[in-house]
Amino acid sequence: MMAPRLDIDLEKIYFNAYALVTRLGRLGISVMGVSKAFLGEPNIANTMLQAGVVTIGDSRIENIQTMIKADIKSPMTLIRSPRVSQVDRVVHYADISFNTELEVIKKLSSSAKNNNCTHGVILMVELGDLREGIMPENLEDTVRKVRQLPNIVLKGIGTNLGCRNGVIPDSTNMAELSRLVGSIESTFGMTLEIVSGGNSGSLEWALGGSNDIGRVNQLRLGESILLGVEPLNRTPIEGLYTDAITLVAEVIESKSKPTLPWGETAQSTFGDAPVNNDRGNRTQTILAVGRQDIDHNGLLPPKEIEILGASSDHLILSSEGETHRVGTEMRFDVNYSALLRAMTSPFVSKVIKKRKS
Ligand SMILES: *Cc1c(COP(=O)(O)O)cnc(C)c1O
Repeated sequence: MMAPRLDIDLEKIYFNAYALVTRLGRLGISVMGVSKAFLGEPNIANTMLQAGVVTIGDSRIENIQTMIKADIKSPMTLIRSPRVSQVDRVVHYADISFNTELEVIKKLSSSAKNNNCTHGVILMVELGDLREGIMPENLEDTVRKVRQLPNIVLKGIGTNLGCRNGVIPDSTNMAELSRLVGSIESTFGMTLEIVSGGNSGSLEWALGGSNDIGRVNQLRLGESILLGVEPLNRTPIEGLYTDAITLVAEVIESKSKPTLPWGETAQSTFGDAPVNNDRGNRTQTILAVGRQDIDHNGLLPPKEIEILGASSDHLILSSEGETHRVGTEMRFDVNYSALLRAMTSPFVSKVIKKRKS
C-alpha cells in the first residue's frame, strides 16, 4: 500500500464519539464535532454525526464548503471569527459563526440582509487563555448592539480555554461563563440557546463528577474524538481508542552506523545541536517521511525504536540489533500536532477503513 499514509479507522472514531456523546449527554451537554483536523473529510464528519454529534464545527469555511458539497446533513458552525473578506461565503455556507468583533457582525448582518436570510452568532468571551474573546465587562454592551442588527440571531455565548496559554477550565472560569449567561438573560429578557463551554480540554471539568456544569450545554470536540486523549495533559480518556488514526511510513535505508557524527560541525538545517553522546554503533533507519509531512515530535514510535530527528524528507530512527528491510512499513500513533501536519500534507495519503454496518 502507499506510504506514508494515515490509516483512519471509522469504527474507532465512531466508538470514541459515541462514548463522549453518551457521557456528556447525561449532563445535558451536547457535542459539536470539530472537523478542522481532518479538513472536513466527509466520511469522518458523517461518522461523528452517526455517533450522535448534533452539529459540525470548523475553523475554516473552505472545510465547511467541502462538507456541504458532499451533502453532509448537519448545521454548520464556523468556530473562528469570520474574515471580513469572506462574510458572504460565511453567511451562505455556515448557519452560525463565532464572533468577537462588532465590525464583522455588522458585515454579516448586511450580507444576510442582502441574501434575505438570517445568520446565527455566538459571542466568544475571554476568560483568561488570551486567544479570542470579548472581555467580560464589554459583553453586555456588545449583546445590546448585536441585538439591534437586522438578520442576525444571537444564539448564545461561548469560551475557549486551554489553547494559547493552556489555561485549565475549572469551577471558577466555568462558573463565570454561567454567571454571564444569567446576567445577559436577565438584562435583556431573553434566553441564550447555546452555551458553548470549550474544547476537549473541558472534558475533565465536565466528566470529573465534582463540578457544577451550570449553564454549559455544548462542548466542541475534535482531538478527544479522533485521538482518544484529553489535550491538557495528553492522557488517554478511559475506554477510548488512542489509535483510531495512525501514521505508516516506509523504510528506505537501514544500516549499522556510529552514533557520533565526524568532521567539523556547523548549523544543521533546522538548527538542532549536533549529537554529542557516543553510544557506539547502533542501527540507524530512515523512513521516507519528514517535516513537510509530520511533526516528528508528535509521533509515538513502536517499542524499542527511538526517534532521533527529522529533516524535510527523512525521519531518522535508532534501534538495537537487526537492521530493518527496505520497503517494510512502520506504524506510529500520532498526537494532534502530527495529525494536523499529516492531514495537510499532499504527500501523505489518507486511507479510510469504513465501518462494518
Ligand atoms: C479547534 C477548536 C476546537 C476543538 O478543539 P479540540 O481540542 O480538538 O477538541 C474547539 N473550539 C475552537 C474554537 C477551536 O478552534
